[in-house]
Amino acid sequence: MRKVYLDHSATTPVRPEVLEAMLPYLESRFGNASSIHGSGREAKVALEEAREKVAEVIGAAPSEVFFTSGGTESDNLAIKGTAFANRKKGNHIITSQIEHHAVLESCKFVDNEGFEVTYLPVDSQGLVHGDDLRKAIRDDSTLVSIMHVNNEVGTIQPLEELGKIARDKGVYFHSDAVQSVGKIRIDVQTSNVDMLSMSGHKIHGPKGVGALYVRKGVRITPWTHGGHHERSRRAGTENVPGIVGFARALELMNQELDDQCEHMKNLTETFYRRLVELIPDVVLHGDSSKRVPNILSLSFKGVEGESVILSLDMRGVAVASGSACTSGTLEPSHVLSAMRVPPEIAQGAVRFSFGRDNTMEDVEYVLSLLPEIVQRLRSISPLYAQKQQKQSG
Ligand SMILES: *Cc1c(COP(=O)(O)O)cnc(C)c1O
Repeated sequence: MRKVYLDHSATTPVRPEVLEAMLPYLESRFGNASSIHGSGREAKVALEEAREKVAEVIGAAPSEVFFTSGGTESDNLAIKGTAFANRKKGNHIITSQIEHHAVLESCKFVDNEGFEVTYLPVDSQGLVHGDDLRKAIRDDSTLVSIMHVNNEVGTIQPLEELGKIARDKGVYFHSDAVQSVGKIRIDVQTSNVDMLSMSGHKIHGPKGVGALYVRKGVRITPWTHGGHHERSRRAGTENVPGIVGFARALELMNQELDDQCEHMKNLTETFYRRLVELIPDVVLHGDSSKRVPNILSLSFKGVEGESVILSLDMRGVAVASGSACTSGTLEPSHVLSAMRVPPEIAQGAVRFSFGRDNTMEDVEYVLSLLPEIVQRLRSISPLYAQKQQKQSG
């Protein structure tokens, strides 16, 4: 059976070039970067070279890049670390309703620890408005955390504008850029961000590694305690093979960014255009232009997203429901709810997220399956049958 993987927002395969860069650090060059002997120094050199690569891609200084165990840890460190370090200034934090759970749950944690959190609304396209942020900032606000690209719908937030509003008010600005780094050019200087979260496995690097950019001078308290690794911001023996792989993956993504953008756009635009010709009542979630080219979140009216996913899976096609993190629960996605998508439509959301290895043949294959699947599911859907009757009667 043909296999088509369209769940790159959940995770991606490690590229051969990345694996090749990592292997020596799992085998012969296994030293601990803190050891002073030759083997340790070898690991330390690799670690610092990786730091330079990551810094270069985002326009930071190497000393502003801190390696972590991934996007989740970076988000936790950014939020808890700055909340607690700046408690004397104030205890108010601002985020949005559509953040990844790594941000939302970190905010919930500090909320329980005596901080106050404001959750900014989004419009029906999933965009945060500058005016809402301006109004929410108070004298005791210390941090604003707004994601760059949403993992469910692919909407791109106006980072520069939001960052500038926070900066003008003297409030730190953090952005979860896990879905954008390596796919959209990011310059931490022009985008006014003070902290930026990144992850390896969303960009064809290994799982369990990522980084947090922290602008020089930002007051942040460590969240993992132990040795003096990562300039005492994040204790723990560095995951040298992972870090080397992550940096290589980011470097490659950045080099190929324009070509990949074009490739992704070509695939998703063709897919969407053909799909709406073949299937009636398809809803696209998120902004139609301010979006990354690789994510399409669609609802087929009258059909459960989970049923589409399972039907496609039986034919070798991997896609996700509204969000991979919430599958297995019956609650509608918090992102689609915040965008005021009616629950019966939100339930039907299916996320198609494309990657560099996908081809036009993959698109054709999925297009050859979907109309039949949706039609079959609609024929047994009480919701859809009623609607059709109403229309014809
Ligand atoms: C995947 C993801 C994360 C979590 O990153 P991990 O490296 O898997 O911990 C955080 N934020 C967003 C937007 C993501 O898509």
